[in-house]
Amino acid sequence: MKLANYVSGRWVEGGGPGTALVDPVTGEELARASTEGIDFAAALAHARAAGGPALRALGYAERAAALVKVADVLSANRKEYFEIALRNSGSPEGDAAVDIDGAIFTIKYYARAAGALGAARYLKDGELARLGKDEGFQGLHVALPLRGVAVLINAFNFPAWGLWEKAAPALLSGVPVLAKPATATAWLAQRMVEDVVKAGVLPEGALSIVCGGAGNMLDHVTGADAVSFTGSADTALRIRGHTALLRNSTRVNVEADSLNVALLGPDAGPGAPEFDLLVREVVREMTQKAGQKCTAIRRVLVPAAARGAVEDAIVAKLGKTSVGNPRNKDVRMGPLVSRTQQRAALEGIAALKREARVVFDGGAEFKPVDADPAKAAFVPPTLLACDDPLAARAVHDVEVFGPAATVVPYADAAQAFAIARMGQGSLVASVFSGDAKFLADAAAELADSHGRILAVNAAVGQSHTGHGNVMPMCLHGGPGRAGGGEELGGLRALAFYHRRAAVQGHVDVLAAIAAGAADFKY
Ligand code: NAP
Repeated sequence: MKLANYVSGRWVEGGGPGTALVDPVTGEELARASTEGIDFAAALAHARAAGGPALRALGYAERAAALVKVADVLSANRKEYFEIALRNSGSPEGDAAVDIDGAIFTIKYYARAAGALGAARYLKDGELARLGKDEGFQGLHVALPLRGVAVLINAFNFPAWGLWEKAAPALLSGVPVLAKPATATAWLAQRMVEDVVKAGVLPEGALSIVCGGAGNMLDHVTGADAVSFTGSADTALRIRGHTALLRNSTRVNVEADSLNVALLGPDAGPGAPEFDLLVREVVREMTQKAGQKCTAIRRVLVPAAARGAVEDAIVAKLGKTSVGNPRNKDVRMGPLVSRTQQRAALEGIAALKREARVVFDGGAEFKPVDADPAKAAFVPPTLLACDDPLAARAVHDVEVFGPAATVVPYADAAQAFAIARMGQGSLVASVFSGDAKFLADAAAELADSHGRILAVNAAVGQSHTGHGNVMPMCLHGGPGRAGGGEELGGLRALAFYHRRAAVQGHVDVLAAIAAGAADFKY
């Protein structure tokens, strides 16, 4: 089977042999993907000419209603998506739910949030601004949907959520989407787009997809388009530096890799509820999706006196995690998505081992349940410990995109914050403490270098949404090596797909403009 591309209103198979998509448990080839021969210039032009005007003819609330229909189509086909996630990503049911149900939840959230914007087709940003002596002459800021295409390039780890968390705000804004999922796991995204296109719930040209290499796609991107990228820092650099994007000042958003931290407060020793909450979260982040989450905890910062107890508590839980073929109902952690990713993760762990000792890695006897290690892409949960974090480099720099984390001791709070910042900009820091002042201080210290701070004490121990879980109401993204991007954050996400302009004129004219706009309140 070759995955068909949907471009220019047609399903088209790419030429040549294409790239194989493989079951990471059995090694079986599932499908092939190719974009060879795809006319990217025509695909983008079609989306701009057909999809854009059709979407912009609708108001926000009508586009929100279309998104509800998209969510309904996806919900109706949910079972099939779990099967694809099992086969193409080796996802146990819980991991697949994070991706698939997370996608549907995010679409529904955006549909609800946009309802409030009503029939308007553009946004008013702020109030009138007086410019001089004449009160009749003032300025107003409006934000209009881009007249180009949202080019959405995604990573392999969230084929469903990664597509829809970007597509929902774009479509809601009135901007058509050309999706390019990562080739290794493109099947799920492709099937979802196929279902939505066949259901006819979006205007023609609003949603296109290419499965396979990006080819010369970016050569045809204009200044009216926007590129939203999730993936490695190396690819981000290539995309940012692309000549067409530079020449056209194309808007680019980057979500890249990250060395996220969990920080145990100085007060939270063994026996404290926050100690147990941190241990639970670290184990969840190491094993959920086999650690293949950009938000996963990579560094566990603990008071030096508590490090032995933290290591023991994490190891006790990791030892009970059953790793193997997700078709076995007892299995909690599956494989990485490919042998390539397995190799990369093992190389990363080897780099960490030069600065950190192994506390747990399943031992020489590690064997995945019901799987042949010679064909499968498993990596055992691996906990490391670093004795000298201030001298270490790889611990703060090498993102193992798998089930690995390093325990890092700190001497005092100031040193803990300094070590957290050695990640050079991350997506998330979670802080576990019973001391409200420490939580507030940590948030103020770390919010400039981390996109999101999760402050956990016993009061929110059972209700918080998790370190790694990206909620559509809150911003997702981080500074520095995390890419410097911003996604989600409620209706803030719409800003990326709108262009803001100032209109200066008589207040009566401005009032007429404002009357057709929705207030851009977050
Ligand atoms: P990747 O190799 O950088 O690929 C990401 C996407 O870029 C894929 O769709 C890839 O297509 C495409 N691509 C590669 N070269 C390109 C080029 N020259 N022009 C245009 N597109 C190009 O990353 P990955 O291995 O899929 O994902 C893992 C990384 O993503 C990790 O580092 C992780 O931290 C990061 N990540 C970050 C976030 C976040 O929100 N911050 C979320 C998830 C993952 P092909 O697959 O066809 O090569």
